[in-house]
Amino acid sequence: MQTTPPNRRQPLREVAAGLSRKIQRFATSLLPVDAGRRGDCNRCGACCKLPYPCPFLRYDAGGLSSCAVYHARPPSCRKYPRTASENLTPATCGYYFVDVTEIGRAQPATEQIGG
Ligand code: SF4
Ligand code: SF4
Repeated sequence: MQTTPPNRRQPLREVAAGLSRKIQRFATSLLPVDAGRRGDCNRCGACCKLPYPCPFLRYDAGGLSSCAVYHARPPSCRKYPRTASENLTPATCGYYFVDVTEIGRAQPATEQIGG
């Protein structure tokens, strides 16, 4: 028996999936950042909208994001994206991942985020 109209179930599923990924990121945020992470935060702000815009997210006149609680932001924010599989915003995120086992050297990863 169908209790929710089809056009309303899809957004609910997306919100539930987004919350699930947020919980997963919270749970893994004490683990180290992947040594293959490269790049830098370009302040696109996309990670601060997962799955809904954070109340501490700000934008300047130029459209660059910032965090109103930057120095107190949680580890899941500081380390985003921690691994390639946890990068949920690859289209705009300035970070990317390389396979350090292929290039034969690992460089220490930083813990930067601009969101
Ligand atoms: S970095 Fe700041 S604005 Fe972005 S999600 Fe975390 S607390 Fe919110
Ligand atoms: S960490 Fe990535 S997704 Fe988040 S604000 Fe910076 S560039 Fe954008």
